[in-house]
Amino acid sequence: MNRDLPASDDSPGAPPDPTLQSTPEASADATYMGLALEQARAAMLQGEVPVGAVVICEGKVVAVGHNCPVGGHDPSAHAEMQALRAAAQALGNYRLPECELYVTLEPCVMCAGAIMHARIKRVVYGAADPKTGACGSVVDLFAEPRLNHHAEVVGGVRRDECVGILQRFFSERRAAARTRRLAAAAEAPDAASDVPPTPIPGQPN
Ligand SMILES: [Zn+2]
Repeated sequence: MNRDLPASDDSPGAPPDPTLQSTPEASADATYMGLALEQARAAMLQGEVPVGAVVICEGKVVAVGHNCPVGGHDPSAHAEMQALRAAAQALGNYRLPECELYVTLEPCVMCAGAIMHARIKRVVYGAADPKTGACGSVVDLFAEPRLNHHAEVVGGVRRDECVGILQRFFSERRAAARTRRLAAAAEAPDAASDVPPTPIPGQPN
């Protein structure tokens, strides 16, 4: 997955954060997204793009997961996939029709497919992903009538925090890359001046 920095949500057309409404469901969504944010922080501590997920069944936490494709040498190790696998194991069923999935970043096509196969009834995400989002940002698979399962989808829950952790991660990574370039230039000024900046995986050049 690319999981690049999502666009700023300060755009005039951005919908309001649903959790700012004070309904019991909005309050539960905010609470569960907090657990997903904890998972995103766990990913960041491991040097992974900070995305976290949690699966809830009838008000109980069934499973959690965080993004770990780099450390796991696994392109499918997105937070949602990790949480779905753990939930299916915990419940002893590959179908999860009573479950809700909370994730800090809009699911990609792969994860949307797994969500459909698992028959997840509701998906709640925080930040939109204009590069790989499959809940409306790039494509909207959950609105595709030719596909046979349609989870309810809610976006923008605790969006600012979900965007903020991604922004912090990429900004720290850019700063570290800059420091490395400066150190290399100080050690070998002639050689370093001929070397273009090292591209960061998952970042636009
Ligand atoms: Zn994904």
